[in-house]
Amino acid sequence: MNKKQKRMLARIVVAFVLMAGLHFTTVEGWARFALYLVPYLVIGYDILIKAAKGIKNRQMFDESFLMAVATVGAIALALYSKSGDYTEAVAVMLFYQVGELFQSCAVDKSRRSISELMDIRPDYANVERGGALEKVDPDEVAIGSVIVVQPGEKVPIDGVVVDGASSLNTSALTGESVPRDVKQGDEIISGCINMTGVLKVRTTKEFGESTVSKILDLVENASSRKSKSEDFITKFARVYTPAVCAAALALAVLPPLVRVFGMGLPAAWDTWIYRALTFLVISCPCALVISIPLSFFAGIGGASREGVLVKGSNYLETLSQTKIVVFDKTGTLTKGVFEVNAVHHNEMAQAKLIEYAALVESYSSHPISKSLRRAYGRPVDNSRVTEITEIGGEGVTAKVDGVPVAAGNAKLMTRLGVPYINCHSVGTIIHMAVNGEYAGHIVISDVVKPHAKEAITALKAAGVHKTVMLTGDAKAVADQVAASLGIDQVYAELLPADKVAKVEELLKMKSEKEKLAFTGDGINDAPVLRRADIGIAMGAMGSDAAIEAADVVLMDDDPMKISKAVKISRKCLGIVWQNIIFAIGVKLICLALGALGIANMWLAIFADVGVMIIAVLNAIRALFVKKL
Ligand code: ADP
Ligand code: MG
Repeated sequence: MNKKQKRMLARIVVAFVLMAGLHFTTVEGWARFALYLVPYLVIGYDILIKAAKGIKNRQMFDESFLMAVATVGAIALALYSKSGDYTEAVAVMLFYQVGELFQSCAVDKSRRSISELMDIRPDYANVERGGALEKVDPDEVAIGSVIVVQPGEKVPIDGVVVDGASSLNTSALTGESVPRDVKQGDEIISGCINMTGVLKVRTTKEFGESTVSKILDLVENASSRKSKSEDFITKFARVYTPAVCAAALALAVLPPLVRVFGMGLPAAWDTWIYRALTFLVISCPCALVISIPLSFFAGIGGASREGVLVKGSNYLETLSQTKIVVFDKTGTLTKGVFEVNAVHHNEMAQAKLIEYAALVESYSSHPISKSLRRAYGRPVDNSRVTEITEIGGEGVTAKVDGVPVAAGNAKLMTRLGVPYINCHSVGTIIHMAVNGEYAGHIVISDVVKPHAKEAITALKAAGVHKTVMLTGDAKAVADQVAASLGIDQVYAELLPADKVAKVEELLKMKSEKEKLAFTGDGINDAPVLRRADIGIAMGAMGSDAAIEAADVVLMDDDPMKISKAVKISRKCLGIVWQNIIFAIGVKLICLALGALGIANMWLAIFADVGVMIIAVLNAIRALFVKKL
C-alpha cells in the first residue's frame, strides 16, 4: 500500500469506530446530528469536495455526485423525520470508500506485476575508458561503441558480440525460459540478462532505437488506444448517469403527486425520496468503469509476459475475432536463413559468383542478402559497390568495381532483358547477371521454422477457418512449404503491391465480423500489415518497418504465438463481457428492487461494492495466460 492508501485505511478505521460507538449514544436532536457529522466528514469530505467541484465545472454526473446527493439526502431525511438515524449515510460513504480503496490496491497490484515482468529497462552501460570500466547512461553510448556486459547485468543496447561467450536469459522479452547461447559474431538484443560470461558488445543501434526502448514505448502507450468495449462504457456512462438521476427525480416526485390524484399508492413524500436516494446509490457505475479497462490492461500485460506485445486494447478486441490468418513465407514460416545448395550454369568460377552476390547484396537487410553474405564468409568491402537499387520482390542491382551486377529472381532478369536459364531444383533461385550477361544462378534453400506446422494446427483448433500464404518466392518452393505445413491457399511470385491486392481481395470475401490477420517480417510487408484488420510482426528478426506497422509483435518470432495471442485475446474479451453483463444485470435487479422499496440503502451499497470487487478480481484473471 502506498501512503495515500494507508491514509484512506486509517480514515476508514476511525470512521468505523466512531460510527459503531455512536450507535450506543442516547443523545438526541441537533447534538446527535453534530456527533454523527464527525465520522461522516472524516470518511466523506473528499467525495463532497469532488462533487462540489463537479457541479461548479458543470460535469456533475459522476460517482462522487451520486454518493454526495444520496448521503446528504439521507441525512436531510433523518433530520426531517426526526428519526435520528444517520448511521446509514455514514455507512454508505464508508463502504463506498472501502470499495475505492480495494480498487486502487487492485489496480496498483496489476500495474506492478506488469512492470515487474517488464523490468527490462537498463540503468547503465559499461564503457571501457583508460583500462577501467565506467558506468554511463545508455543514452550517451554512440553506435559502434564497445560496451561490456557482465554476468547478472542486462544487455542495455542492441549489438554484436565481439568478444566472449555466454548464455542469455531472454524470458522477460520472449516468455521463453530456455537460455540462448551466444558467442563472438552473434547479434544480441537489449533487455536480455547476461547469465554466465563477460561479453564485449559492439553496439549497432542507439539506446532509443534499441529493442528495450521500443518495447517499453509500446507497452506504455498500449492503454491509450481504446477498444470498442471501452468506448461503449464511456458512452454508456455519459447517457446512463443523467438518465438514472432523472429517473430518481421522477421516483421522488411522481408517485406522491399521483397519490394526490387518488391512485392509492402507498406512503408519503419521505418514503419516495428515500427510495429515490437508494436508487442513486445503486446506480453508481463504478464496477464497469473500473473493471473494463483493468481487464484489457491485464490482458495486454499477460500477453507481454508471454512474449506477445499488443499495441492497444482495440487490437486485443480485433484479435479475438480472427478467422483468417495470412502468412508471409520467408522469415515468418521459414527461418529466412538460407544455405547455398548449388551454383549452376556459371560462366565464371563459383567462388567469384558468390563474391559478386555478396557484394551487390552488401547493403540490403533482406534475409536472402544476409545469407549470401554469410556464404561468402569474409567481410564485404563496401567501397567496391556503388549505385545500389533494391527492387522489392525482385532483387538488387548495383555496380561492383564499376561493372553492373544484378542478383534476383526471374522477374528481375526479365526486367533487365537478360535471358536466363530455368533451374529444376526446388529452392529459391538467385539469378545473376554481370555486365548485362547471364552469369548463372545460386540455389539457396530455407528451413521451415520448428513450430510452423503445429502453429497452423493450433490456429485451426482455435477456430481460424482459413490459412493463406503469400510469397514473392517461386511457385515450386511455395507449394512445397504450404503442403508440408497444411496451409489452405498459396499465392506465389507476388510483388509487394500484389500482396496488398491479394489481402484486399481476401478482405472483400469475408464478412465484417470475421477478422483477417496478416503475419509478416519484411520491410515490404509493412503496407500489408497496415491494410489487414490486424497486423502481426516478427519482432526478433523482423525489420523495424514491419514492427512499426504491426498491431501485434511476437518477440521470439515463434509462429505458435499467433494462436496463443488469439487465445489470450479471447480470454480477455470473455472476461470483459462477463463483467459487463454481471455488473449491468445486478444493477438492473437492484434498481427494480430499490424502486419498489424492497432494497434499502444498505443493500444498495453492499451490492455496489460487492459487484465491483468481484468484477475487479475477475478482471485480474486476464493476467494469467500461461496455460492457454
Ligand atoms: P517473401 O514474400 O517470401 O517474404 P520477398 O517478397 O521478400 O519474399 O521476396 C520475394 C523474392 O524476390 C525472393 O524470393 C527473391 O527471389 C527476390 N528477392 C527479393 N529481395 C531480394 C534480394 N535482396 N536479393 C535477391 N533476391 C531478392
Ligand atoms: Mg518476408
